[in-house]
Amino acid sequence: MAANRQRASYVVRPETAILTRGFDPRLSVGSARPAVFRSSTYVFSSPKAAERAFAIALGHSRPAAGESVDLIYSRLSHPNAEILEDQITPLEPDAQSAAVFNSGMAAISTLFLTFCQPGTSFVYTVPLYGGTQHLMHQILEPLGMRGTPVPAGDSRTLRETIQRTPDVRLIFIETPANPTLRMTDIAAAAQATQSVGVRPIVAVDNTFLGPTFQHPLQLGADLVVYSATKYLSGFSDLLAGMILGKKPALIAQLRGTRAVLGNILQPDECWMLDGRLPTVELRMTRQSKNAQYIAEALADHPAVANMNYPTLFTAPEQIRIRDAQCRHPGAIISFELRGGKTAAFNFLRRVKIAHNAVSLGGVETLTCHPATTTHAELSAEERAQSGVADGLVRISVGVEGWRDLLRDFRQALDASC
Ligand SMILES: *Cc1c(COP(=O)(O)O)cnc(C)c1O
Repeated sequence: MAANRQRASYVVRPETAILTRGFDPRLSVGSARPAVFRSSTYVFSSPKAAERAFAIALGHSRPAAGESVDLIYSRLSHPNAEILEDQITPLEPDAQSAAVFNSGMAAISTLFLTFCQPGTSFVYTVPLYGGTQHLMHQILEPLGMRGTPVPAGDSRTLRETIQRTPDVRLIFIETPANPTLRMTDIAAAAQATQSVGVRPIVAVDNTFLGPTFQHPLQLGADLVVYSATKYLSGFSDLLAGMILGKKPALIAQLRGTRAVLGNILQPDECWMLDGRLPTVELRMTRQSKNAQYIAEALADHPAVANMNYPTLFTAPEQIRIRDAQCRHPGAIISFELRGGKTAAFNFLRRVKIAHNAVSLGGVETLTCHPATTTHAELSAEERAQSGVADGLVRISVGVEGWRDLLRDFRQALDASC
């Protein structure tokens, strides 16, 4: 097996653990970086070992402490997935186990298909990532699962909905919400599930602020979900998803569904993502500082009607949630231009350094117009409710020099006045 659990047995900080656990060079002929194991199938050490590996894979038996179980077939797991899952776990405080998927949507769909059955319910915050919303309306609801939306940041409605909804299995929270950055109280949601007969699972899509600035498991969530395509990978060159949890049994269930759906991340992508993990905190910290300088400097620009950024929150409840659950504000900014869609398009055209593209979290700065792209499928009413105005632009700030970015955004805004 590729993992060397002995080296992980002493406690070190996450940024140290990421470079010291989960990989044993002796199992990759001494190479300092893991090898890529592209094999689709694995040779058993004996027929008895094969029988044992299947018994464990099928859930009929559990591995004993320290037992080395033979690999079977790459759709179930492979060495690069195991190395990545072991290495990422210490980055998420309180996580005990992780499962990797071939996209964020693969992770989210596996989550719902594992824990919700036809006839049961789930509760979710809105606005939500477009793909997740699609999954709910086009696949889960036609299968007979009932979804109830709750506006992001409305703690009371969230608590009441959790306690009132029959047969609720999963609470899915995305915070901060895209693209308005409205925050939802994770601890309050987890608290509300305590009094439900069969306690539902609380899962948080932590793509915007994790794993560096927000730690949902410490706030009482059961599972944390990532589009690893974004900050975890950081270079806009691969798709991946990740789910981490406190209870290894929940992650084992997800791996079981993953083996059937066939959506495990491939060895090459695991290897690439693995190499990005030691710099996640460095990149995110720099990106967040850049974004804060820029958001605060542009908030008073005459072309800007309102700036959405955590350090600029004014609603007391939003400030309370921010202070309770976020270490730093993060690198996503959105703001509404006074001149509406025309001004927004002009701004996007005039910006020279950032590219106009969807996605976020990469080292390069990206800009987009949510109303006509990422949120185009919402009805006008849903967009109004979610704060996705025609004049709104979203910026994912990268690691460039912030003064260069600021000067560029300023000249583009000056021309939009
Ligand atoms: C991008 C994103 C997803 C989907 O991830 P993919 O890797 O594109 O499948 C889910 N949630 C959020 C918040 C995202 O930004």
